[in-house]
Amino acid sequence: MYQTKAYSAVNATSALAATSIPRRDPTARDVQIEILFCGICHSDLHTARNEWSSVMQTTYPCVPGHEIVGRVTQVGSAVTKHKTGDIVGVGCLVDADQTCPCCRDHLENLCPSGVFTYNSPDKHGTAPVTYGGYSDSIVVDEHFVLRIPANLDLAGAAPLLCAGITTYSPLKRAHVGPGKKVGIVGLGGLGHMGVKLADAMGAHVVVFTTSPNKREDALRLGADEVVVSRNADEMQKHAGSFDFILDCVSAEHDINAFLNLLKHDGDMTLVGAPEKPLSISAFSLIFGRRRLSGSLIGGIAETQEMLDFCGAHNLTSDVEVIPIQKINEAYERMLRSDVKYRFSIDMASLKSD
Ligand code: NAP
Ligand code: ZN
Repeated sequence: MYQTKAYSAVNATSALAATSIPRRDPTARDVQIEILFCGICHSDLHTARNEWSSVMQTTYPCVPGHEIVGRVTQVGSAVTKHKTGDIVGVGCLVDADQTCPCCRDHLENLCPSGVFTYNSPDKHGTAPVTYGGYSDSIVVDEHFVLRIPANLDLAGAAPLLCAGITTYSPLKRAHVGPGKKVGIVGLGGLGHMGVKLADAMGAHVVVFTTSPNKREDALRLGADEVVVSRNADEMQKHAGSFDFILDCVSAEHDINAFLNLLKHDGDMTLVGAPEKPLSISAFSLIFGRRRLSGSLIGGIAETQEMLDFCGAHNLTSDVEVIPIQKINEAYERMLRSDVKYRFSIDMASLKSD
């Protein structure tokens, strides 16, 4: 076991602050990584503030961060996928049983014994729960360590590990491509990756935003049209016209307004995870036989596929790089939808703390 620097929340209302956390010494199957960049996902904030307590309580201290890019510093004797010096990524998952039906289908994200990168019981016993990427270094089973295409900017590649795969997976499952009209709701970290990916897949992309000042950005990011979702007239023009809508909103909102924009047999998938339950009118689904589903990140093979797709299309997240010392300010700005469009923490800043 060794100690490494990190930023943690000590309770649901505390600011995040510098601390020291234990990491296990790499076992035969482990890869030790020096973290270079870590994206800030809204899930980090939900967890640090225990907003999902009805589903999963936060254990403190809590070290968030699951959009990790770094350099391999050591590998265990049985590791074959990675070697010292490689640039790699770690997303939301660091373990799974690898034997259940989900894992056998390459859906480690759905494994009942899956271990999230932070706030999951630590089966190695190094600490009560796993600690995430707001830290100097991390040790991860090689199966959960991804290759980062060499052409991608590392600060911008970090958010692909969560925002990228979380939007890529449902877009792929919905067969998004040429001839499909796709809506992306909420132009934040997830939403802006959804726009870039759906555009790269060849779809007609419409962004729904509550922030009229994001219109120009949405078009630059790849949207064909932008709708201010609080404007009922603008919404009505698109009634019954969408093949697929991806909802990336982090807070309470009316999903019926979007369900009503689907064609018959159209699909809407929720990836946003608001603290409070959403209300659904049965009629939004019954009329038009519409379907509503959810999606949780993606499996490891699909995450590598997404990274390779981004490599081939030279796609990264639009990031604002910040030092870790600005983390609390970044959380407040994220709550105000004032992020263009993902914060990426330069972990070198942690060395000066
Ligand atoms: P984010 O960067 O904060 O973006 C959320 C966006 O939602 C905002 O930019 C804003 O877009 C919109 N929004 C915020 N408040 C709203 C409100 N009251 N009404 C309507 N729209 C509102 O967050 P993120 O990191 O992209 O994460 C989004 C959600 O996905 C979070 O709940 C997160 O926990 C969840 N998530 C889920 C998964 C999964 O596997 N399912 C993975 C990662 C994250 P506009 O300004 O354009 O309106
Ligand atoms: Zn995330």
